[in-house]
This record gives sequence, structure tokens and C-alpha cells, in this order.
Amino acid sequence: MERQCSRFHAPLLACALASTLLATVNGCSDQHNAADPVQHHAQAATPAHAASAQPDVADAWQRLKDGNARFVRGAMRHPHEDTGWRGDLEKGQHPFATVIGCSDSRVPLELLFDQGFGDLFVIRVAGNLVMRDEAGSIEYAVLHLHTPIVAIVGHEQCGAVTAALGSHEDIMGEPQELSELLATIHVGMPEFSHAMPQAERVKAGVESNVRQAMHQLAQVPSIHDAVAAGHTRIVGGVYDLHTGQVRWLD
Ligand SMILES: [Zn+2]
Repeated sequence: MERQCSRFHAPLLACALASTLLATVNGCSDQHNAADPVQHHAQAATPAHAASAQPDVADAWQRLKDGNARFVRGAMRHPHEDTGWRGDLEKGQHPFATVIGCSDSRVPLELLFDQGFGDLFVIRVAGNLVMRDEAGSIEYAVLHLHTPIVAIVGHEQCGAVTAALGSHEDIMGEPQELSELLATIHVGMPEFSHAMPQAERVKAGVESNVRQAMHQLAQVPSIHDAVAAGHTRIVGGVYDLHTGQVRWLD
């Protein structure tokens, strides 16, 4: 679990994470294994203040799967919300997963994975894209918070993906920032047959967009190295608005 704080990139100081980054950079690798409030509250049978390391890649992914399974069954635990737990988090955060999802109001990541405060390092952006800013946030989570899993979660009926499947004229007709976002999604899309029904195009587009984000993230050198070293893993899934289930991609 030991990684170097020196990989922190100075330009990221400009982002909203600056104060947290500075606090973390001042000794992140030593603090990590000293106490893990996420883990010592993770299981009801675990002693209240037992220290343990981050889960490994497989366990972290399983926690996401288990949380989503509880959500689908309607058996949510709503963990890690009480004042005592939040008080523990004042000492620092040790989220077990980084999750990138769409800003869509119907896809609240902590809820659909049945997780609480301090459990997930969440990035939400329309179309769950991984562009420069998102990559920087993910680097922070992987290199300094040591999250053992990075999950990119798209969702069915994504408006951003639907818009990105529109015509070039429609995309360019949007304001500059929005058109750039849609164009970025569009560029990563395969050519779908015009004979394909719109609902199927969107469904295929959502999955393709997740895979594209996974690919882009894997090209970031620091993330590539962390994955190669087995410190983290990039996984992708698609959330079904109707069932509440996240379908994980191969
Ligand atoms: Zn969306």
C-alpha cells in the first residue's frame, strides 16, 4: 500500500481539493495504515476502533456489489451516517472506492451502492466523462487515498449520451462548453447503424461511453502504473434506472 506523495501534481492545487490535498500530502503514506475508520466500522462484528488496511481490489469491488445488491432488494443499511462516525472522519478519509458517475439526479452513487460518509470518493459529471479535471481527481484518490478500486458507472437513458448521439449540427448548436462535452462523448462512440432503434443506440452508446472512459483513464500514466502494480483496478458498470442494479461490464 505504500506509494509516494511526490507524484502529486502541483497544478491540481487550483481545484477545490487543494486544502485536503495539502493536508494529505503531508504524510499520506504513513497515515494510511495507522487507522482506517472506514474499515473498523465496515462490519458490525468488527471492534469499534480496530485498525486495518484498505481492502484489497477484490474486496473493495465486492463491497460495491454487495451495497448495490442491498439497494436492489430494498434492504439498505444506510451505513456511516451517525455523528460518531462523522466525528471519526475528522481525522481523515479512507474511502474504499473511487466512483465516477453521471450528474443525472436519478443516479446518486452513495445511495445506489448503499454507502455513507467517507466510503466513496465520488466524481460526478454529465456523461461520466474522464477528462483532464476528472483524471486529476482520480489521481488524487488513487495515489493519495489509495482507493483500491475505480468504478466508472454510466446509466441507462443518459441524456448526455443521447445528446452526443445527435447530429453534428445539434451538438455544435449548444453553448461552447456543453458542445465540447458532448463532442468528447461523440468522438468516442462507434458508428451505429441508422437502422438501429434509438433506444438501442442509446443503450449501446451508454456502454460504449463507459468503456471509452475506462480506456482513457487507463492511459493516464500514474493510473496505468497503479493498475500495473496491482494497487487499484478500473471497472465499469451501467446502472439500470428501473431495477436499480449496476450491470458490471466484462
Ligand atoms: Zn447521464
